[in-house]
Amino acid sequence: MSDINDLYQELILDHNKRPRNCRRIDGAARMAEGYNPLCGDRVTVFVEVEGDVVKDVSFEGSGCAISTASASLMSESLKGKTISEAECLLRKFHGLVTGKTNENGEGPTLGKLEAFSGVGRFPARVKCATLVWHTFNAALQQKNETVSTE
Ligand code: ZN
Repeated sequence: MSDINDLYQELILDHNKRPRNCRRIDGAARMAEGYNPLCGDRVTVFVEVEGDVVKDVSFEGSGCAISTASASLMSESLKGKTISEAECLLRKFHGLVTGKTNENGEGPTLGKLEAFSGVGRFPARVKCATLVWHTFNAALQQKNETVSTE
């Protein structure tokens, strides 16, 4: 098990050091801001949707390693998914980090996102991991409000 934990930790560290899709999409039709006052994480998520497919996802912001890695891995995972697949992944990810469910069930698999399975042991870190997902959801729903974890 420790090998797997090391692998997961490495993945998170790598995505924190070299975040993927960390850029703004100028003129993105859908965007939202998120803030986690508990940790100080701030993130803006940009989403491009074509038909019912998430064509592009990117983010900007500053936060701790967990929130940055979560944003990076989320952007990779959601690109090319349909909106319903994206919503399914959101639910699965939330279940994973809150420890409510660890089954993959139907729909898209968590894949690399399972790296966050250990986060549930650190309740304060759960919000760091989920902030960007809630923010993505707000962008998708085109809610023009800042998402706060509090
Ligand atoms: Zn944080």
